[in-house]
Amino acid sequence: MKGIVLHSDAKSSGSQWGEIEITDDVELFAAVGPRDVKVRIEAAGVCGSDVALASGKFGIPTPLVMGHEGAGIVMEIGDAVTSCQVGDHVVLSTLNSCGHCSVCERGEPTLCGNPRSEWRMPFKLRGEELYQFAQTSCFAQETIVREHQAVTIPKEIPFPAAALIGCGVITGAGAIFNRAKVAFGDTVAVIGAGGVGLSAIQAAQLSGASRIVAIDVVPEKEELAKKFGATDFILSPADPAQAVLEIIPAGVNHAVEAVGSPQLLRECIDMAANGGNIVQLGMADIDTEASYTMYSLYQNKTLMGCRYGAARPRADFPMLADLYMQGKLNLDDLVSQVVTFESLFDAFEEVVAGKVARTVLQPY
Ligand SMILES: [Zn+2]
Ligand SMILES: [Zn+2]
Repeated sequence: MKGIVLHSDAKSSGSQWGEIEITDDVELFAAVGPRDVKVRIEAAGVCGSDVALASGKFGIPTPLVMGHEGAGIVMEIGDAVTSCQVGDHVVLSTLNSCGHCSVCERGEPTLCGNPRSEWRMPFKLRGEELYQFAQTSCFAQETIVREHQAVTIPKEIPFPAAALIGCGVITGAGAIFNRAKVAFGDTVAVIGAGGVGLSAIQAAQLSGASRIVAIDVVPEKEELAKKFGATDFILSPADPAQAVLEIIPAGVNHAVEAVGSPQLLRECIDMAANGGNIVQLGMADIDTEASYTMYSLYQNKTLMGCRYGAARPRADFPMLADLYMQGKLNLDDLVSQVVTFESLFDAFEEVVAGKVARTVLQPY
């Protein structure tokens, strides 16, 4: 079947995007276990993390089948699967939490450290076994995930829009709903208006934020950010914190860093109001260090990490799908273009240029 294989990342191979092969020869050879679900992928978003993976930011083992933001149709279920049926439309979650440990029990599966999140190798290419990236591997025509990673959604939602729920949308919206817990009337600033940042902006609007300031370096993002609920847009400010404080002198209740830059994290601390939250959402290299004056957090500011929008996928994905069905959550305008696997490198260029919200790949 068709799939996109990363043989080695840019840091190991020395080439721009690493050694990537778009091929028809990927084989999904693993058996569907009792608690597994085989999914025919219908759409998969190209996220900043895919570029980061190819660039070698994560340094995880290769070769692997890429892709982690996908939606598709259930083809086969294991004997013990009860939460979905063959033919269901599902969004894939990258979270292979165990469901049985104390943090899973208390509803925080992103904190699960259960060793069941092992590196699986369900694919082969010309006899060589391939790892499954982010427990999903959506840049393939078919994949196998655990039952709780395949979350059923209404069949009316187009696959390209649905796919984005599985990473960009849950990461951005979850940061607002689950982590910062933005309240009605709060003020919010978001640095970086890509798929994740726009989802944070939209969730802030749904939460009733009174003022939402979007900051980006690409002028085209102004229209997009405002469409998703930004009340103000600041283009490439020399001093982002100062620019936000000029609009909201007391500072914002929630400052979201959705780029992955230590300098911008520091700006977020400085633009947060006393008692405010700073959410560190953007992905940086795993060894990137940030610095700030310890005094800058003194006024009861809270600096928050955030993994995968602190998601509870089986609660949050259907909730987001419902909001879409009611016309309250705009997913369609997050999909900038739908293209084939062969356009992966163009999609990577677009992620780097930051001009589009999301490119979505279709494997058929
Ligand atoms: Zn992603
Ligand atoms: Zn667990």
